[in-house]
Amino acid sequence: MKIICIGRNYIEHAKELNNPVPAEPIFFMKPDSAIIKNGKPFFYPDFSKDIHHELEIVLKINRLGKNIDKKFAHRYFNEIGLGIDFTARDLQQKQKEGGKPWEIAKAFDGSAPLGTFIKVSRFPDIHTINFSLKINGNPVQQGNTKDMIFSFEDLIAYVSRFVTLKTGDLIFTGTPAGVGPVQINDRLEGFIENEKMLDFRVK
Ligand code: ZN
Repeated sequence: MKIICIGRNYIEHAKELNNPVPAEPIFFMKPDSAIIKNGKPFFYPDFSKDIHHELEIVLKINRLGKNIDKKFAHRYFNEIGLGIDFTARDLQQKQKEGGKPWEIAKAFDGSAPLGTFIKVSRFPDIHTINFSLKINGNPVQQGNTKDMIFSFEDLIAYVSRFVTLKTGDLIFTGTPAGVGPVQINDRLEGFIENEKMLDFRVK
């Protein structure tokens, strides 16, 4: 399986990092070794001093597809969850300045903690879902899927022009504003509406 991550998909987040709002989706990938599940801890890596959390809605792909038409894209996932796109912001900044790829800043082991997934059918409209992150009980990120620049369906259509989607693949759909650093011993808790979906610690 593979993990596809979307960059700059919420206007307020693009602004907070002084990035232009994209005309087309931006994506990059993480390897399966990035995944952390079942509330296991994230170990702060020794190669960065500025690891940031990015809370994101994650789509779980449930069938094979290539060149998927936007109007059929909703058929390619039936569960969503929350994930953290951990980012070594210090390394990413250096890579950006040098015009170099982002993998060392985004794709490292443990950089994609995942929570539980719930059926899309539980929501009246997945295009207006609230989601949020608390660190040590304090709210740090709040988003609503209505503020996405590119919808879930736009993303599936776009990505599948370039990359075949397979059952079990994950799409991290971009972070809202409020990204920031984590510290050792922090506890991260993610919510969709009022339901806790994600809970783990930084060690
Ligand atoms: Zn992200």
